[in-house]
Amino acid sequence: MKTIHELARTNIQTLTPYQSARKIGGQGTLWLNANEYALSPTSNDFGVNFDGLDFLSQANRYPEPQPANLIQNYATYANLARTQVLVTRGGDEGIELVMRAFCEPNEGILYCPPTYGMYKVSADTLGIRAHTVPLSDSFHLDLPAIKSTLDNNPDIKVVFVCNPNNPTGTLTAKDDIKHLLALTQGRSVVVVDEAYIEFSPTSSMANELDGFEHLIIIRTLSKAFGLAGLRTGFVLANPAVIDTLAKVIAPYPIPAPSAVIAAHALNATNIAIMKARAATLVQARDTLAKALSELPIIQTVYDSWANFVLVKFTDGQAVFDKLWQDGIILRNQHTALGLANCVRITIGSDDENSQVMSALANFNDQPKITDPKK
Ligand SMILES: *Cc1c(COP(=O)(O)O)cnc(C)c1O
Repeated sequence: MKTIHELARTNIQTLTPYQSARKIGGQGTLWLNANEYALSPTSNDFGVNFDGLDFLSQANRYPEPQPANLIQNYATYANLARTQVLVTRGGDEGIELVMRAFCEPNEGILYCPPTYGMYKVSADTLGIRAHTVPLSDSFHLDLPAIKSTLDNNPDIKVVFVCNPNNPTGTLTAKDDIKHLLALTQGRSVVVVDEAYIEFSPTSSMANELDGFEHLIIIRTLSKAFGLAGLRTGFVLANPAVIDTLAKVIAPYPIPAPSAVIAAHALNATNIAIMKARAATLVQARDTLAKALSELPIIQTVYDSWANFVLVKFTDGQAVFDKLWQDGIILRNQHTALGLANCVRITIGSDDENSQVMSALANFNDQPKITDPKK
């Protein structure tokens, strides 16, 4: 007799699941831990008139597998052909689809920590290998180490680069990505995760797709578009890749209401609004970063090209715990590779940013008795 636990695949028995911001919990009044946009389109002038959208008249029917209108709008936004776009249930589904489509059970991926946690979780879930090459001290790609890891491990089929990188906020130079594309040509595909690209739009690799058949780009409406609740993301790649991923995606991945709202969010008016908001957020980020850098409890405020800042405190855990108790929920990065005492702070509304600022400015940094359990 085997228990349910024992009946599960061995790699699932030992899997450490992704700790999403929502799962970690907390009794928050201020949620700055998931890089969401601070306002919902329902409560501001984003322009979506939800009352006017009709999902229910056809709710008995399965939705379009790849809603044509939505694909067209995203292709227009990204300046690509429709055949270069796949819509997915959030960027996370795109990340896993690439592994499912390209990795045999005895093959694997390469990623560069500290970075987004889902690359490892998806690889572990699928039971494929996860190779790592740490980022340099300044959080840039270590291309010589990546080259030798690729040379020594022909099982690597997918290389992930998060740009801008979560949680460091760092930007990878296009030349470095092109170097990586040269190293991997004919051996593996390169996934550039552009979840935060709207905060640094000129850094996108989307207009390089014509030159690289093994380049794959992940996008999402969860960050700059302020639509994390819709669960809508995109994969951008050449048709050969898109067709391969389309073989393994679920038959009807996109709920009809999500498709209707997402297509609406991607019309010209709403894209212009999103771009203006992203530009405003970038200014608010730089203002907050500058103010933070003057606080005595802070050692480093890392430069960010995204909608969050990574901050190194003298005692990150103490700051994180104190703000948590006060209902200000940030993302602790203490256990991430090389990020001891670091906390990631999502840029919120002006009011939220000043609340974080004053909580940190008032943080009592007096020497205290250290709790040996922490
Ligand atoms: C948020 C995020 C995603 C995708 O999020 P979805 O909500 O699934 O679209 C992908 N990559 C990174 C680095 C992210 O931070």
